[in-house]
Order: sequence, then C-alpha cells, then structure tokens
Amino acid sequence: MTKAPDESPVAGELGRLIARRIALTGPISLADFTAEALAHPRLGYYRRALPVGAAGDFTTAPEVSQMFGEMVGAWVADRWLAMGRPAPVRLVELGPGRGTLMADALRATRGVPGFHAAVDLHLVEINDRLRLAQADALASFSPALAPAWHGRFEDVPAGPLLLIANEFFDALPVRQFERTPAGWAERMVGLADDGETLRLALAPGVSPFSALLPADAPVGAQAELSEPCRALAAAIGARLRRDGGWALIVDYGHDGALGSSLQAVRRHRAADLLDRPGETDLSAHVDFAALAEAAGTRSFGPVGQGAFLLALGIAERARTLKARATPQQRDALDAALARLIDSDQMGTLFRVLAVGDDGSAAPPGFPDTPLDPRTDVA
Ligand code: SAH
Repeated sequence: MTKAPDESPVAGELGRLIARRIALTGPISLADFTAEALAHPRLGYYRRALPVGAAGDFTTAPEVSQMFGEMVGAWVADRWLAMGRPAPVRLVELGPGRGTLMADALRATRGVPGFHAAVDLHLVEINDRLRLAQADALASFSPALAPAWHGRFEDVPAGPLLLIANEFFDALPVRQFERTPAGWAERMVGLADDGETLRLALAPGVSPFSALLPADAPVGAQAELSEPCRALAAAIGARLRRDGGWALIVDYGHDGALGSSLQAVRRHRAADLLDRPGETDLSAHVDFAALAEAAGTRSFGPVGQGAFLLALGIAERARTLKARATPQQRDALDAALARLIDSDQMGTLFRVLAVGDDGSAAPPGFPDTPLDPRTDVA
C-alpha cells in the first residue's frame, strides 16, 4: 500500500514520541520503528490492543476452528511419547493470543495417559489483557495445569521442552534493504522537511548487513532480515540441544526469498507502515531458512500448513465432528477446513517447521511419519 504523496501518516502519541527520538538521534531502522510500534512499554500495539479475532485486527488459524489446536495438541503429545514421556516437560507457547490454541490442544490430549500430569505450562506474552484472556481460556485446566507467564522465552525454566509458536515470529521486527548500484542500502524511518512527519528513506551508502544478503541481486531488488527472529531461533535451538524436546513453528513465510513483506493492518484492512504506530499491527513474512539455520539443530520442513494438517488427520476429524453436527454447523466445519488447508487460503502461504532431534525419523506431519495412535483426538 502506498499513499498519495500529499497524504501524511497520522502520528498519534507514539508517532510523536518516535519523531522526537529521530529529531534527536537521527533516522532509525524499520526494525527499531517496529520494535517501538509493537512493544513500547506503554503505547506499543501488543501491549494494549486485543489484536486477534473478529473484533480485533486479524484472525488466526486457532480462531478459525478448534481443529487446528486439536491437531497441534496431538502432535505435541506424540512428541512427548517419542521423547520417552519426560516429567516434568515444559509445554511452552510463544504469543498465545486469546489462549484458544492451547485450550484446544489440552482438551484434545486429556486422554493421553500421563501427559497432563507431566505438563508444566509456560506462556510467553507481553500483553496484560491477553494474559487475562489466556487465564480465562485455560481456567478449566486449573489448578493442575495453571500456567506461568513470562515476558521472554529465555525466562522459561530449564528442562525438556515442547514449544508451540503460531503467528509469533511474524510479529518480530525486520530490517528492510534495497539494492542500489553501489550495493544493499537500508530503508530507514526519518523525518520529512516539516521536522515531524515520519517518512521512509534509504540510508546513504552500503549497509554493513550486505554480507548477510544475496550478492547477485538486481538493482531495485528488496530484501528483509530479522535479527530478533534469528536470535530467538538460536535460543530455542540451544535449549533443545541441551535439554531435549521439540519446537513447532507455524507462520506465513518464505525460504530466504528476496522481496519486501512488512505490512500494516488495522481492523482487517491494509494501512500505511508509518500510520498510527501503536494502533496498527505490523508483521512480516518469516524467513524459515534463516530460522532453521539459526536454530543450529535438526529441523523438518517447512511444509505447507494444509499438508501438515491433512497428514495429522484433520479431514477425518472434520468428518467426526460433522457426524454429530447440525446442517448449519456442517457448513461451518467445511468452510473452516477449507480455510485452514486450501492452497488459495491458508494451506500453502502458512508453513510449519519442526525443530528437534531425537535421532529418529521425521515427526508426524513431515513426510510419511504417522501419529502415535495413543494420541488420538477424542
Ligand atoms: N498465537 C496466537 C496469537 C498470535 S498474535 C494465535 O494464533 O491466535 C501474536 C501474539 O504474540 C499475541 O499474543 C501478542 O501479544 C504476542 N506478542 C507479540 N510480540 C511479543 C513479544 N515480543 N513477546 C511476547 N509476546 C509477544
């Protein structure tokens, strides 16, 4: 989305704070801008908004249907069995939103002998209002499965790990670059001539990040790079190598492709990147190749979300649910299934990466490994 040149982005309080910072210290990277816009302690978008769901700014797979969380639950329980049923096991979700995925995953795994007794639940979330929503969503599993909340993954206590992240990495800041005849230059957020309107401009000179970007791109090409995504993947990989376990990362993304994907969404509609920071969601496609490399341990995929869910049995699950549904509910189930798996909906744009290594075959959902029958969703 580009705006007509005479329209300037609307600033709001956080926009004015960012403009003052730039006036004092000079242009900032889009990553720094995004970090402020999303996570500023008082005014950041993820600190105060209720972003997910029909009333928020976007809808996510667990909000489309309970079947998504059920399949993820079955996968996680399967991995726990494959790990040799460690107790306790840290079951961690990064950015649980309204808590829907975890609630569906736990409900679906009630019948897995010993699993709930082994689970020690940890949620990584910076939004206090969402923490309350998560507590509500998970209330029926308390006190046995009462979650502990953390602001950062690094604060989750040591021990065998089962980690889930749906649409979390896409909310971490990215830098953007454009290829010039001299090399890669970084896109920065600076100020227009009026000294207060935020404006995008290329930094002069070649970026020191060029070493991490493709050398042979044509002039005009764009590229993105996310240090926070890589750092988090590295931290997760290090934990998995040390304590054992698995991580399942679901997001929309690519494999190190060129292009710019950072986008702004407000109330289910595209907005200008610099418009109303703190009131607008900013997200970027996740570079799965970079995540897998940074994790530094064995990984599987990414596979399309549709293929992953079908391999886990979502079509059979839909049939079971439909068998006891009203005609109206049946239509809703069909629509939800299509939305999750069809390639013109979420089926291929969204991808699934598994990280972990127990020396055995690929985990379920990644070519040809069936689920452990003991994890059957009831
Ligand atoms: N996984 C949920 C929500 C996705 S939205 C779902 O699929 O519906 C992103 C989630 O990550 C929200 O819960 C948001 O508050 C949280 N979040 C965003 N940035 C974060 C950060 N830096 N640290 C911790 N949580 C964050």
